[in-house]
Amino acid sequence: MKNPDPKTIERGIRQDDLIVITGAGGFIAGSLTRYFHDLGYTRIRAVDKKPLQNWYQRTPGVESLCLDLSERETCVRAVENAVEVYNFAADMGGMGFIERFRVECMRSSLINTHLIEAAYQAGVDRYFFASSACVYNTTLQQDPNVRALKESDAYPAMAERGYGWEKLFAEMLCQEYWAERHMKTFFARFHNVYGPHGTWDGGREKAPAAICRKVIQAKDSGNHEIMIWGDGTQTRSYTYIEDCIKGIDRIVHCDELIATPINLGSSELISVDGLVGLAEGFAGIRLTRKYDPTAPRGVAGRNSDNTFIKQMLGWAPDTHFKDGLAKTYAWIEQQYLARKSGQRVVEDTL
Ligand code: NAD
Repeated sequence: MKNPDPKTIERGIRQDDLIVITGAGGFIAGSLTRYFHDLGYTRIRAVDKKPLQNWYQRTPGVESLCLDLSERETCVRAVENAVEVYNFAADMGGMGFIERFRVECMRSSLINTHLIEAAYQAGVDRYFFASSACVYNTTLQQDPNVRALKESDAYPAMAERGYGWEKLFAEMLCQEYWAERHMKTFFARFHNVYGPHGTWDGGREKAPAAICRKVIQAKDSGNHEIMIWGDGTQTRSYTYIEDCIKGIDRIVHCDELIATPINLGSSELISVDGLVGLAEGFAGIRLTRKYDPTAPRGVAGRNSDNTFIKQMLGWAPDTHFKDGLAKTYAWIEQQYLARKSGQRVVEDTL
């Protein structure tokens, strides 16, 4: 499958056009900021409500602002003179967070409504919104051996409570800003993105990071036990951060995808037990597995149907989970040991 060099993508923007990336103190947007910087874009504005010292990545030469984008005025300030806007700002986390804090998740609609309007008023050329596989109808995800979800499976709607409904509403906003006001909007449904420079402790982390951390802790403490949320049979596909970033760039610069839902996810399905097995392999240990059936577990199974993305872009996320998880495990281990030795590491809190 063709996997074009990012330098050859036709973006139709100048190297000094202003690119605004929100949520840039977090995982995905922090990596996207670095990506555009490394491609030679000279004017990037990165925005997040977290204090700068708590950002996972700070890219030198990038204008980095600490602003709360749930306020209309700060959204106006954030997108001033922007040519492209990438919106990743959201109050979110793994299942443990989104099942417990539905109201917080839904309040991200303040960010999404103010930012898209500010972008429209500022005459932005392209606007991207980070959507999620949580928009899909949950009744289609009740079996670990799921049929992969295709874009049309979001409707009739029965999204994940709180977080999923908010994403679905924000997708619709993107569609209407294109239909009624002709601003080019794009959104992709991410499927469980993982990799270095993301949340790995504190309550917002997702399964791959949480399991790597638990295995590292077990190895370090000598207490060779692990507590697994659910019964270990839940399945997901996980998308490596570099694939996610490449996909965003391609989607935003493909005019056939304006206001069109598209999966951005790996189609390699793995169970939680399988994930634990891989992490044990990196650690070189075997753990006694304990299961907590009362813990948040989400839907029974979810996978990405990549027919549409392959058809549109001639590409789909292709990093093998084992390879991506090995890099993630190594990064978390390094963070864990740095924290243990008293060094300051960036951590998210609830
Ligand atoms: P993240 O939590 O690491 O990053 C989100 C950032 O948004 C955080 O740094 C947070 O401080 C910031 N933020 C929250 N409220 C804000 C506000 N009011 N003003 C400014 N900044 C604010 O999350 P991530 O994993 O990088 O996810 C980025 C986006 O992608 C989110 O919209 C998320 O819903 C979406 N998404 C992520 C995944 C995934 O697997 N990581 C899957 C589906 C969708």
